[in-house]
Amino acid sequence: MNQKSNPQKDAAAPAPSNFLRQIIEKDLAAGHYAGRQDGHGPLPQVITRFPPEPNGYLHIGHAKSICLNFGLAKEYEERGVGGRCHIRFDDTNPVKEDTEYVDSILDAVQWLGFSWEHGGQTHLHYASDYFDSLYQFAETLIQQGHAYVDSQDAETIRAARGNLTEPGKNSHFRDRPADESLSLFREMRDGKYADGEHVLRARIDMASPNIMMRDPVIYRIRHAHHHRTGDKWCIYPMYDFTHCISDALERITHSICTLEFENNRPLYDWILERLRDAGVFAEPLPHQHEFSRLNLTYTITSKRKLLQLVEEKRVSGWDDPRMPTIVGIRRRGYTPESVRLFCERIGVAKADSWIEMSVLEQALRDDLDPRVNRVSAVLRPLKLIIDNFPEGRMEPCTSPHHPHKPELGLRNFHFSRELWIEQEDFTETPPKGYFRLFPGNRVRLRHGFVIECTGCEKDAAGNVVTVHANYFEDSKSGTPGSNNYKVKGNIHWVSAAEAVGAQVRLYDRLFSDPHPDSGGKDFLAALNPNSLETVQAWLEPGAASTEAGTRLQFERHCYFVADLVDSKPGALVFNRSVGLKDTWQK
Ligand code: ATP
Ligand code: MG
Repeated sequence: MNQKSNPQKDAAAPAPSNFLRQIIEKDLAAGHYAGRQDGHGPLPQVITRFPPEPNGYLHIGHAKSICLNFGLAKEYEERGVGGRCHIRFDDTNPVKEDTEYVDSILDAVQWLGFSWEHGGQTHLHYASDYFDSLYQFAETLIQQGHAYVDSQDAETIRAARGNLTEPGKNSHFRDRPADESLSLFREMRDGKYADGEHVLRARIDMASPNIMMRDPVIYRIRHAHHHRTGDKWCIYPMYDFTHCISDALERITHSICTLEFENNRPLYDWILERLRDAGVFAEPLPHQHEFSRLNLTYTITSKRKLLQLVEEKRVSGWDDPRMPTIVGIRRRGYTPESVRLFCERIGVAKADSWIEMSVLEQALRDDLDPRVNRVSAVLRPLKLIIDNFPEGRMEPCTSPHHPHKPELGLRNFHFSRELWIEQEDFTETPPKGYFRLFPGNRVRLRHGFVIECTGCEKDAAGNVVTVHANYFEDSKSGTPGSNNYKVKGNIHWVSAAEAVGAQVRLYDRLFSDPHPDSGGKDFLAALNPNSLETVQAWLEPGAASTEAGTRLQFERHCYFVADLVDSKPGALVFNRSVGLKDTWQK
């Protein structure tokens, strides 16, 4: 991975090939999905979908799936082949889902820069929209002898499934006549039975080496209120039955999912092929392709565990800037461009692996560096008094907003007698190679004057509270004589007379273990106790009007963002987004 790659170059370069693009290219060359129509006209040859379950906030792993599905569709649309991507809420489990999650998911997809609009149509779908069709198709399978109602309880069914070495055993309801299954299934729908009394199973093969194919349950009774269909249904279709049919109904071409669904693929195909044979669907059918899920070091990407962090108040909420959720990284200062760049850089593969957190962080640096303004900020202030500088004098100084973008203009601020510098830029006893302030040493105050340190004052406890220095009138940066001063240290400062106060939240990684939850480890024990430090900082005067969401580079420190929730002009709050360089690498 090239850590120093140039984002502009990356953006212009053709997208690197990957196995999914290769599959699509092959299908295009074969004309596999060419010439299809629906009621609105010709269909694109690439139709993908992002199918979240609305049971939590999306995280960086979902961003990979979004960038992949929406990104591929967009790419082929732009190439003239035709491409679109649907959002489909997989809302078949009535008890776990919530509209709060639906809204946040839509918001996350839009924030990443993608749209489910195509050719004037909106492709925002819900699996629950298909409950009527799904029910009809289940009846079709029963009539064709491909499904039966099993009246054993869940425990008995599970016990008879067998395992990797032993085949399963047929249920004695397996040979129930289709008519009997059909009327039982209708009674299930009509609410005649309690949860668990019967299930509908596909009749496939109890001896299949793939356990998924051992007569999987495709419908179950669940007397529960659904967030969209209310109390209309008391039977709900299972994921495997719903997913492939929803794909086929939406005319999806490439159904991209994570590797854990590899064993579900034969079932996906089996259901669609049976319905094709029954005349419900026509070729070409959608196909499922699996890619490796994103595992990112120093974090976790499990909704359940993220929920636990929120519920146990280990973080301030789903949008805590340390969370790997989209709302969290957004509040941390990540840009949609940086997340897309990250996803493009990590690519897609067929084998699971860990991606280093530093790759995500580097993508943010590469995106921010060319475009954000610089400011001076002193995070751990120490008073510096220039004793030979007249009281009340305010000497105008300037510095570019961006070192490589003169067109962005200059910042204006003043040099004055009392300044703030960083505590770590002064020491009484300098170690070897320390070029900053110590008694007798000269440094340049960036964009200001060269000064020479004359000493310091301490409090009763021996802490340095004030540093003293004298300045050289003819050393001002940008004036003719200034080059006569050769100094090794160059430190930043802000004038105490005009500095703007801000609360600065120094976020670090949430976990100190690179693999917080692998091997069944207790991820809570791996929480980084120093993932947040809050300091009261001083900023140059121009920062006073910073709007929430503005990203800045604090020179010599890090990239920061004015907090979206808490910051306002007059009461600034900044979050550390990422360091200027990787400090975690040894
Ligand atoms: P979790 O296990 O965190 O609950 P999930 O897979 O159940 O996640 P879904 O809402 O079902 O979450 O996921 C929607 C889509 O996002 C699916 O296609 C899923 O494969 C994909 N996805 C989820 N997690 C990742 C990940 N870490 N990397 C890549 N894709 C992911
Ligand atoms: Mg899932």
